[in-house]
Amino acid sequence: MKPVSVFYNNQPTTIFATMSALAAKHGAINLGQGFPDTDGPEWVRKAAADVLIKGPNQYPPMPGHPDLRKAVAEHNKRFYNLDIDPMTETLVTAGATEALSACCMGLLNPGDEAIVIEPYYDSYVPQIIAAGGTPKFVRLAPPDWALSEQALRAAFGPRTKLIILNSPMNPAGKVFSRSELGIIASLLMEFDAYAICDEVYEHLVFAPHEHIPLMTLPGMRDRCLRIGSAGKTFSMTGWKIGYVTGCAPLIKPVTSAHQYLTFTVNPATQIAVAQGLRADDSYFAGLVKGMDEGRQILNPGLAALGFEVLPCNGTYFLTVDVTNVAKRAGFTGSDLDFAVWLNEKAKVTVIPMSAFYHPNGGPAPHHLARFCFAKKREVLEGALDRLREFL
Ligand code: PMP
Ligand code: GLN
Repeated sequence: MKPVSVFYNNQPTTIFATMSALAAKHGAINLGQGFPDTDGPEWVRKAAADVLIKGPNQYPPMPGHPDLRKAVAEHNKRFYNLDIDPMTETLVTAGATEALSACCMGLLNPGDEAIVIEPYYDSYVPQIIAAGGTPKFVRLAPPDWALSEQALRAAFGPRTKLIILNSPMNPAGKVFSRSELGIIASLLMEFDAYAICDEVYEHLVFAPHEHIPLMTLPGMRDRCLRIGSAGKTFSMTGWKIGYVTGCAPLIKPVTSAHQYLTFTVNPATQIAVAQGLRADDSYFAGLVKGMDEGRQILNPGLAALGFEVLPCNGTYFLTVDVTNVAKRAGFTGSDLDFAVWLNEKAKVTVIPMSAFYHPNGGPAPHHLARFCFAKKREVLEGALDRLREFL
């Protein structure tokens, strides 16, 4: 029989699915895969339920329900003072994941290079390669994950088509500063390149840090595709509603890719998310406050156990250096071994950070683990109890 796709057939199952399956197998508290354990606002869920009963339930327009596209444009104006035409400069997708794929397909031609900042969210590289591009890696180093202009410049070249910028950054919890964004912007202009801005954690930034879309910097309005996710903004990761904002000439090919990927997304969640995006300020303030409470439980709790917790300014993830704890427990092995061991013995699930690195970027660090704190107080405290008892 003829071989199936060599590329996809050789891809491993994602670390998130793998660790969640291991968590279920061992009855572990799952702080691995990033998802909140409390559903988002009931009034948004009720709005979706209403649409399911009353309709519409047929295909919405291919680029998105007009009300959600309007709400996305309004949201850009309200939070970032960006003037966006809903009908030519927005697109609704099946989650940020489809948005990322459609953006890669819409921008890349065979032979183009796409810059990826390590550690990076796992879907970027396969999506770049599937779209005919070649990933080029720039690595940030803990604990502060600062962007080096020199290292970034070295990754740019005549074939550079785009960079994927994830701020706030999963898994590092880094929020790019205005000066770092300025470095990226000037290189994009010098090399005539674009940015796919994965901003799914835009509303999960802890004061005094602030989220600055690259798109708001001078010269960046027409070079950026800005991606948001209702899954993150409304704590309903299963809803899979994403939205892309960009100038009309960039949105056009991205929309064209989307029409063959999924064509459209279910109307009930689109209409409900449109209402959600218009929530008053107290909703957005409450979202980040709730996440911060989780961070304030997990961070000192892990530190008291001897983990070195790295700074986290956004997202719902803490990165932790496990060296001392592993040494004390007599554990020698990779971070993946450590995560598997912790899952089985302590019954707490984490994500090994090496999963966010590519072999072409050089050897990955093997002393870091990612913990998700988007969980109820009792769940986080339960995980800390288990770790304390085991370690
Ligand atoms: N980008 C990043 C950085 C993420 O962490 C995630 C998901 N958790 C996504 C994209 C995908 O978002 P969605 O679930 O909306 O597809
Ligand atoms: N974004 C989530 C995380 O980083 C996982 C999403 C997924 O499982 N694809 O944990």
